[in-house]
Amino acid sequence: MTITTESTLSQPSLPDEYTSIESEVRSYCRGWPTVMDTAQGSWVTDVDGRRYLDFFGGAGALNYGHNNPALKQALIDYLTSDKIVHSLDMATVAKTDFLRTFNDVILAPRKLDYKVQFPGPTGANAVESALKLARKVTGRESIINFTNAFHGMTLGALSVTGNSMKRAGAGIPLVHATPMPYDNYFDGVTEDFHWFERVLDDSGGGLNRPAAVIVETVQGEGGVNVARAEWLQALEQLCRKRDILLIVDDVQMGCGRTGPFFSFEEAGITPDIVTLSKSISGYGLPMALTLFRRDLDVWTPGEHNGTFRGHNPAFITATKALETYWQDSTFSDETLAKGTLMRDLMEKMAANRDGISARGRGMVQGLKFEDADLAGAVCKAAFERGLLAETSGPADEVVKLLPPLTTSEADLTAGLEVLDESISAALG
Ligand code: PMP
Repeated sequence: MTITTESTLSQPSLPDEYTSIESEVRSYCRGWPTVMDTAQGSWVTDVDGRRYLDFFGGAGALNYGHNNPALKQALIDYLTSDKIVHSLDMATVAKTDFLRTFNDVILAPRKLDYKVQFPGPTGANAVESALKLARKVTGRESIINFTNAFHGMTLGALSVTGNSMKRAGAGIPLVHATPMPYDNYFDGVTEDFHWFERVLDDSGGGLNRPAAVIVETVQGEGGVNVARAEWLQALEQLCRKRDILLIVDDVQMGCGRTGPFFSFEEAGITPDIVTLSKSISGYGLPMALTLFRRDLDVWTPGEHNGTFRGHNPAFITATKALETYWQDSTFSDETLAKGTLMRDLMEKMAANRDGISARGRGMVQGLKFEDADLAGAVCKAAFERGLLAETSGPADEVVKLLPPLTTSEADLTAGLEVLDESISAALG
């Protein structure tokens, strides 16, 4: 099956502006070399009318789909009323409503007594503020991160990120962070936390007492590595016992990607600090939050500030998303059911072929290729057939799928059929 329509079989291409004006640092438009124009739900249309089923979902920023009608209407109403668009961090009606709704719909029902910080509009901003806060609270400087972690491109976030190519971009030593093996890093051969606990408790271990541990429950950029609930529980205990703060970076896996609103809910753990971004605005508008235990709120006024912490259009769509999807468990139950559907179909694709395995949780699912180059070839073949999918992992060896959570079962099935064909095409 090919999604792209008959009339548009010319080769997609990019205008010269991308090669002559935009920096070489550009990335996604290289894999999808066409000019995207309109989008609705899980579908994107380029300027020539080619339609693409979007299984990348803005890298997890579009959990409720492109131009979600309920969110769009709220945004249009706000804009046409000449309400305040930019407000630094002054008080606005949009922000009041967001704070109240986030507390009533998300925090209070989960008994999470967190304060909410607006750290700036990106995931990296949230991570930076989380690391700064942990250091300020504890008076310690070192942070523990995990192999294959991804936390963003600013220096602090990069220091706790694994990818060597991204780290090299810093141009200075990235210090005060120590990587530990993520769950199953040794394929079950070495007992989890053996090394971590040993060096923590050994005065000759050479590890400075850390301020915090930062962890993703599922490593999205790192190759869809899923931490088991038991591993996360043991990590929480290890931190509690030694008075180390636990930061869960839920930038990519939060807002329902794995089923529940927070990805750590399934493990029943309560992080001290949580970062959220990507889908928190619900509409692809930049927005991020840093959440932390009330007693950790040691910031002094303005100690971590910035111009774009009061992006009211994002608060409007964020509030509408919470009201529309998170008042009860219907949406997360549907996500889990669709995740099972995806996983079953992907397991079948993997079972029929050598060197491919399926992995994931909820609606973040991936296929790992033993021959890493195949993953890129599959994504290329998928693009040619009208499906947007991206690779992840240290060697780009995993095809990672992050479709909007609102994608219909019919579209999920159709897209996965295209993925199946793309694998066959890549295998030759
Ligand atoms: N943390 C995680 C877990 C992420 O996946 C990302 C982005 N992929 C970030 C932080 C950084 O977010 P941003 O790109 O918005 O800075």
